[in-house]
Amino acid sequence: MHGTAERLKGPVVVAIDGPGASGKSTVSRAVAGALGFAYVDTGAMYRTLAWHCLKAGVDLKDPKAVASACRRWKTRLFLEQTPAVEVALLVDGYRPRDEIRSKDVSAAASDVAVVAPVRAWMKRKQRECIQFGNLVMEGRDIATNVFPETDFKFWLDASPAERMRRRQAQGVDENLAARDRQDSQRAAAPLMVGLGSVRIDTTGKAVEDIVGEIVGRVRGGG
Ligand code: C5P
Repeated sequence: MHGTAERLKGPVVVAIDGPGASGKSTVSRAVAGALGFAYVDTGAMYRTLAWHCLKAGVDLKDPKAVASACRRWKTRLFLEQTPAVEVALLVDGYRPRDEIRSKDVSAAASDVAVVAPVRAWMKRKQRECIQFGNLVMEGRDIATNVFPETDFKFWLDASPAERMRRRQAQGVDENLAARDRQDSQRAAAPLMVGLGSVRIDTTGKAVEDIVGEIVGRVRGGG
């Protein structure tokens, strides 16, 4: 993988976007591992803010209150080395894990994600991740908004039935359709396919094949 890093100037960002349960996380982690890049889960950053607001009793339907909590919370980006090289957002020195995967936090994450100052804060933090070198960054607006200048943009999707099946297999109960609707219809950086993104339908496809396709394109320069 040194070839790509040497050929291109500056850190390389691989943007992987798509709706919930499209296979983004599994694929992005594997791509990061194969390329030796740091993995960034931007959904986890929105989830972390949502968890923080729920804990602090902030009214999630009040954008001003959410924006104010986001201005004031004490966070730090940290590069974890094990079990994988991954950028984590610490709150008061703590990284929440399982607690940000609950149904309540999933719904609350889409609420905080509609708030424009929150999105501006997240974009700034996500761009700061470049301090850690080459990145595989997964989310909803990485190709359209956070790193639109990258040459490596991918859009993953799967049929609604397949996405529901995956969530159920993970033991996660959530309203994917409602979250998709809210993510797609918000005014600030809505969920949409980025210009020049390579679209991959992951329905019925093996993870290795999808990872192979993305890694091959990055190594090949686009
Ligand atoms: O990907 P994940 O399901 O963890 O994302 C949680 C929520 O965070 C999404 O439903 C979306 O509302 C928001 N999000 C976003 N932009 C991103 C990543 C996540 O708006 N780049």
